Order: sequence, then C-alpha cells, then structure tokens
Amino acid sequence: MGHVFLTRPLGDVVEQFRPQLAEELNIPLRIHPDPGSPPTREEMLEAVRGAEAIISLVTDRIDAELLDAAGEQLKVVANVAVGYDNIDLDAAAQRNVTVTNTPGVLDEAVADLTLALILATTRRVVEGDRFIRTGEPWIWGPKDWVGLDVSAGATLGIIGLGRIGMAVAKRAHAFGMRIIATGRRAHDDDARALGVVPAASVDELLPAADIVSLHCPLTPETTHLIDAGALGSMKPGSYLINTGRGPLVDEEALADALDSGHLAGAGLDVHEFEPEINPRLRAMESAVLLPHIGSAGDATRNAMASLALRNAVAVLSGDEPLTPVS
Ligand code: NAP
Repeated sequence: MGHVFLTRPLGDVVEQFRPQLAEELNIPLRIHPDPGSPPTREEMLEAVRGAEAIISLVTDRIDAELLDAAGEQLKVVANVAVGYDNIDLDAAAQRNVTVTNTPGVLDEAVADLTLALILATTRRVVEGDRFIRTGEPWIWGPKDWVGLDVSAGATLGIIGLGRIGMAVAKRAHAFGMRIIATGRRAHDDDARALGVVPAASVDELLPAADIVSLHCPLTPETTHLIDAGALGSMKPGSYLINTGRGPLVDEEALADALDSGHLAGAGLDVHEFEPEINPRLRAMESAVLLPHIGSAGDATRNAMASLALRNAVAVLSGDEPLTPVS
C-alpha cells in the first residue's frame, strides 16, 4: 500500500485529512517529524519510496532522481506554495505525475508583507529600530532618518502584475502611489481603475519607478532579471523590493548598487542562495532582510496546507486537481 508523504508538520489543518485518507482511500499519511528543518536528501529519497502523493514545500527539491526513488505508483506532487521552481515539471510530466500549487490563497499576505518592506526600506524603520537599541544618546533632528515620501506620489514599478502584483497595486493605490506595471493584467479594467500604467517591458519600467517590486515567477528566463545592467537603469536613489524569488536578483550586483549609493535601499524577503544570506547585504544598513515570510500569516499558511491536501486527495480519488500547474 502506498502512502502520502508530507515533508514537514503543518499543524492541525493536516490532521483533518488523515481520516479521509485512511477511510476513503486506505492511504496512510506519513509526516517528516521535524518542523524546524526539512528532511535531508537521503531521508527524502527513503521517505518517498512507495508514496502515491508527496506534499512538498519550497525547500524540497523535487527532481527526476526523487521521482524515480518514489516509484511508478506516484500520482501527485502537491506543492504548498504558488511558486514551483523547486519542481522539475518536465520530469514529472514524463512520469505522468500531476503537479499542483496553491495560487490565490496567499495573495493578501504576500502583498501585506511587500508593503511592509516598502515602508521599512523607504522610511528606514529597521535602521531606526537598530539605532534606538544601541542606547546611543539622540535628539530629534530635522535631517535625521529622512527617507522617501511614499504617499506623495512616488511611483511603484510592479514587475509581474499577476495575483500578488494586483494585491500590491490595490494597497499602493490606497497609499496614493503612482503605479507602472508589466504583465498582461496591466491592460485590464481593474488595473486601469487603480491608475496602473502598463509598461511594454521591464526595460521601460525600471527607469520610471522610485520603487521596483518583483512579483514574477522564477524561471530560467527570469533568473537574474535584475542584474547589474537592470540596476544601472533604475533611477538614482530608488529602491528594490523582492518578495518573488531570490535568484531573480543578482545580489552581488545589488550590493554594488547599494554600495555606490545608486540605489537608496533594498527590501528582500527572498534570497539568491537561500538560506545563505549575502554577507555584503547583511552588513548594510540600507538593506532590510527577512527570512522568506511572505505568506506567513496563520490563516494563510493553513489555507495553503489545506489546498495542497485537497489537491492530493482529488488526484488520489481519480478527480481533477483543484489547482494544477499547467
Ligand atoms: P501570477 O498570478 O502567475 O503572476 C505572475 C506575474 O509574473 C504575471 O504578471 C506574469 O505576466 C508575470 N511573468 C510571468 N513570466 C514572466 C517573465 N518571464 N518575465 C516577466 N514577468 C513574467 O503569480 P502570483 O500568484 O502572483 O505569484 C508570483 C510569484 O510570487 C510566485 O511565482 C512566487 O515565486 C512568489 N511568491 C513568493 C512568496 C513569498 O513567500 N515571498 C509567496 C508566494 C509567492 P503575464 O500575466 O503576462 O504572464
């Protein structure tokens, strides 16, 4: 008998599926016991052996070797994330394994965090907090801790006006920001209602924005989308925000751009060599660095886990998955 393998404990929400899996499908649920760290590669190769479904997280590399280790009975890989750059889709397709993701349920949480990073970088929130904690004497000064007036018509450039990009645009519009964006939806009526100006290309967007925010998927085409050339074409004194995926940005080039003062700041939720953090960025006051917490709202994380489990149950039941990756 096969099993469902979940690569990290995800709490009570998962337990609700255990009876259904056991009674209706006669499939046990096995969970990697450590919430703090993913299975090692060796543990993963062993744990998936004979699995009919793998519930994976962004930290799990699902490639041909792993799919082969699971075996021919594997039917579905349900990623608990909207991005699926950790999964080799071709290898899955060749083995008739369905891949699903969790689009839509995390848009608001990631957009909230994007705004948090925009405000934290432009208004130097983290820098100010760090200063206060030094205990150094200080007094209010008119030129101290001055940053960008976000709500006074600063232009936000959204690269990838998809689900999350639109949720960011709604918030930016409420803040009184101008918005320029790439992506098909930039031409839609709901985007126009927010005052979104469509950009024909990333090249057109970069020099026009005071803040550039990345919301496109990581693919071979978008890897290092923001390289030295792209950073050079951004406005002097502008900001880069990345809640997409780390390798969208060449972080050494970003460190150079911050070092030279060409960029005023950067807010990164995701990192090029995650979980490693670029040591130059780590040492910079102008960089706000977070541990990939874009979707880390309690209800959001539960909704992601639930959707992934429902996708797996649907495939195992012979039904269409709710949110397949095409
Ligand atoms: P989505 O709705 O599919 O939107 C993706 C956007 O990227 C679309 O506007 C799309 O344009 C654009 N795009 C696609 N390929 C591109 C390319 N090669 N170059 C430039 N733009 C391109 O996706 P979503 O649900 O908003 O999620 C976006 C990304 O956010 C995910 O892929 C994931 O990596 C990231 N994410 C991060 C976190 C976090 O914790 N930090 C959480 C969730 C998601 P078209 O519409 O024209 O195709």
